[in-house]
Amino acid sequence: MNLKALTSDQLLSETKIIVSEERRITAKLIDHLTEINQRLLFLKLGYSSLFEFVTKELGISEGAAQRRIQTMRLMQDLPDTRQAYEEGSLSLSNAAKLQSHFQATKKLGMAKTIEEKKAIAKNAENKSQSECDQMLFKLSPELPKPERTRVLSPTVRELKFSISEELFKKVERLKELLSHSHPNATLAELIELLVTNHLTKLEKAKGLQPQNMTKPDENNLVHTAAKTLPVGIRVALPTAMKQQVWNKANGRCEYVHQGRRCSSRYQLEIDHAYPLALGGSNECSNLKLLCKNHNGFAAIEVLGLAKMSSFRK
Ligand SMILES: [Zn+2]
Repeated sequence: MNLKALTSDQLLSETKIIVSEERRITAKLIDHLTEINQRLLFLKLGYSSLFEFVTKELGISEGAAQRRIQTMRLMQDLPDTRQAYEEGSLSLSNAAKLQSHFQATKKLGMAKTIEEKKAIAKNAENKSQSECDQMLFKLSPELPKPERTRVLSPTVRELKFSISEELFKKVERLKELLSHSHPNATLAELIELLVTNHLTKLEKAKGLQPQNMTKPDENNLVHTAAKTLPVGIRVALPTAMKQQVWNKANGRCEYVHQGRRCSSRYQLEIDHAYPLALGGSNECSNLKLLCKNHNGFAAIEVLGLAKMSSFRK
């Protein structure tokens, strides 16, 4: 198509058609993500979260993935917002902001009712991002702002977060008390001091090697016979056995789909590859290290989604 041949009016009207087409396709993508999420297809493919699936399998950038997933959750909760998005009155950014706001208020024990959410979502229509931010801030000024971390160089990161006035006063007090040993400490130096002290304490309490993140956290490592018991049931395994399973897995989830291994090192649990109830053993060869989501998924594959969702309630 030769765009140069179009009159300005034609160019403008075609551009508007493309914009509305783009919204229609994004809404369709979100419908597909909803179905993928409900089927737990991302777990089957070896991703520990829907976000990881969208960024790595679909190649969508992190920010765009976050907005689409948050909008998907908003649309599940408030189906009317799908139409508002498709018609162009509710932007993807504002939809994602609304969802994050609802999650944050819930976390603080101030969950909104569906009716309240509907009214707030209606209010966010035809607003710019900053107008939407201002509206949400007025509704709950006490909510912390979203935290951000940005890579500045291979060895330096920038962190951005808000703290309460109360915590700020405590920080000032700490600076005063540390003024002899750490004169004029910056906030970054204070965080380094506090994190290092706390890590040393935790590592000592849990019997971990200092600075070694790949050793098992004995107190947190949960062993579940997921295929025979509801998720979260703990069965005692000797520490040496847990250590052996951990070393075998190199401290990483062992779920593999078509040669792709899950990369999660978060909330790892020990699973019986062959269920105890079916004659599986407690031998190391029958034990696998799985992230919490893949351990749950292993159980779902055996017991079925409906049965597992009743356990999870
Ligand atoms: Zn996993």
